[in-house]
Amino acid sequence: MERIQLKALGKINLGLDVLGKRENGYHDVRMIMQTVYLYDEVTLEKRQKPGITVSTNLIYLPTDKTNIAYRAAKILLDEFGERRGVAIHLKKHIPVAAGMAGGSADAAAVLFGMNRMFGWKLSEKELMERGVTLGADVPYCIMRGTALAEGIGEKLTRLPAMPKCHLLIAKPPISVSTKLVYEKLDALAIVDHPDIDGIIEGLKDRDLIRVAGSMGNVLQNVTETEYPVITQIKEKMIKGGAINAMMSGSGPTVFGFFKERSMAKKTAEQIRQLGLARQIYTTTIHNVRKNRGSDEWKQ
Ligand code: ATP
Repeated sequence: MERIQLKALGKINLGLDVLGKRENGYHDVRMIMQTVYLYDEVTLEKRQKPGITVSTNLIYLPTDKTNIAYRAAKILLDEFGERRGVAIHLKKHIPVAAGMAGGSADAAAVLFGMNRMFGWKLSEKELMERGVTLGADVPYCIMRGTALAEGIGEKLTRLPAMPKCHLLIAKPPISVSTKLVYEKLDALAIVDHPDIDGIIEGLKDRDLIRVAGSMGNVLQNVTETEYPVITQIKEKMIKGGAINAMMSGSGPTVFGFFKERSMAKKTAEQIRQLGLARQIYTTTIHNVRKNRGSDEWKQ
């Protein structure tokens, strides 16, 4: 195989709780992760010459060794002493630095795709072990679906699939520093912890209303205080008929669940017209199939 095209799917958090801070600065988290059908298109091409090249449609993204896709390719090329190289092209659609794990999804796709293209036959578990050295969310981006993430986000337990629904994703045109959000959270005396177990119970009962009703993100208050646009988007979604709406990760992306696609579409248009966000997507959640094969990654 000389060339492979993959879908690198992003995620949202149905729940995000922070339990504490480790001495090394990492935070212990308890998160419910959900894959969404919004993806970067990742193309890998084998090269006879050694080395890694990265190209992307976003001029502001790094294409050198600081791009996480580059680092993912390097780990495997080094491990297998591979003399050939790879050209990586990233067509980005997942909002960048938005709490949707776009970089981690790209890295996951590169690990998965290179393993196939070069025929190294690493198992999913082995790919996840390589992935965690790149970032805490990478193993989850390999696993996909609905999952509980603990530890620093790398300890994964698969959960029953989220009931089907429509999703509206809106990213306001602001940049949020994840580091700063966590620092502000650490400084708070009292924190309102979300009901992670309530979400899990809702998933077990396949009860969309309970899942959506239990959703919560401990980082939301911190980011919202700084950026009222997040509150405005959330309120618009609720007014537009969302079952619930919330910020994903450390933000600033906001998502809402809808029963009807038409309601999500209409609300998207209102958010656009009000200028609250420019990157707006109406899509669905993505659940993994039981006997999934590698087709799931194909474009
Ligand atoms: P998370 O949800 O895991 O916190 P995120 O959505 O906050 O992720 P990313 O979109 O993954 O963040 O990007 C974070 C930073 O990483 C960006 O500022 C960007 O410059 C850098 N980066 C490196 N490689 C990539 C990549 N392939 N895609 C996106 N960003 C990348």
